[in-house]
Amino acid sequence: MAAHGRFDGPSDLHLHSDHSDGTEPPAEVMAAAHSAGLRTVALTDHDTTSGWAEAAEAATSLGMTLLPGMELSARHQWRSVHVLGYLFDPDDEGMRALTDRIRSSRLTRAREMADRIGRDLDLTWDDIVAQTSEGATVGRPHLADALVAKGHVRDRGEAFAGILHPASDYYVALYAPGPVTAVAAIADAGGVPIIAHPAGRAGLLPEPLVERMLEAGLAGFELGHRENEEPALSRLRDLTARRDLIATGSSDYHGLGKPNRPGEHTTSDEMVARIIDRATGSAPVFP
Ligand code: AMP
Ligand code: ZN
Ligand code: FE
Ligand code: FE
Repeated sequence: MAAHGRFDGPSDLHLHSDHSDGTEPPAEVMAAAHSAGLRTVALTDHDTTSGWAEAAEAATSLGMTLLPGMELSARHQWRSVHVLGYLFDPDDEGMRALTDRIRSSRLTRAREMADRIGRDLDLTWDDIVAQTSEGATVGRPHLADALVAKGHVRDRGEAFAGILHPASDYYVALYAPGPVTAVAAIADAGGVPIIAHPAGRAGLLPEPLVERMLEAGLAGFELGHRENEEPALSRLRDLTARRDLIATGSSDYHGLGKPNRPGEHTTSDEMVARIIDRATGSAPVFP
């Protein structure tokens, strides 16, 4: 039997824990996924693999299969591009260097944003630290949680719509590689790169860029995601079918940090098998 024959659906391949901007530790994320009826899951924290061990332990003890993953930050011009990477080698030098650089820039940037906000509102760096688990990849969601705790906004959504919006004077960009570099880093580490929420409000990435990402090893697109919108989604669905690419569907669960619920979108068994068969960097963790 092929290695991939051992997992069961339903599968949700995009979940965040408090190792980045989710609100729960990996074991609680796995429990929430299991309660939602899922049998195969991926932990995809932003720019870190630090939650993999706890997630693997929790998932397998609940009888679920875990695909270790990551959501790697990238940027094309002004827009942020998120590249999901599955089953890459977590010790790969290139991936380690890239993610170290992104996380370190995220820290500098969060401090700078906190300084800027602190000039106008009651907010200190300690308030952000209080909202961030030790060692987590820090991001605007932690600034949002600190703003909520201080009573400046009601929830993360309100913070993102105003104080933390890219058009705000408080906004600072983070270092992120270009999408082709991000895709190549995951592929070079034996992983399977998939563009997250590829038909969101910003619209599709330009076709020549998509071609270059495919040449760099891009495997497919996350077609099932609540932020995807028509008509961009239909165009991408056509491209995915025409080029025989991998199509996934996932929740992008962030605990209490977003309304997204585990299993609200799922990935077919056939597509999960294709991801597992294509990967050479690490193996799924079976129960
Ligand atoms: P950053 O990478 O630090 O710029 O922050 C972007 C992250 O914030 C994304 O990964 C999203 O998951 C999260 N995010 C973006 N918009 C919202 C929102 N309206 N509510 C909650 N989380 C959000
Ligand atoms: Zn996030
Ligand atoms: Fe994302
Ligand atoms: Fe995400």
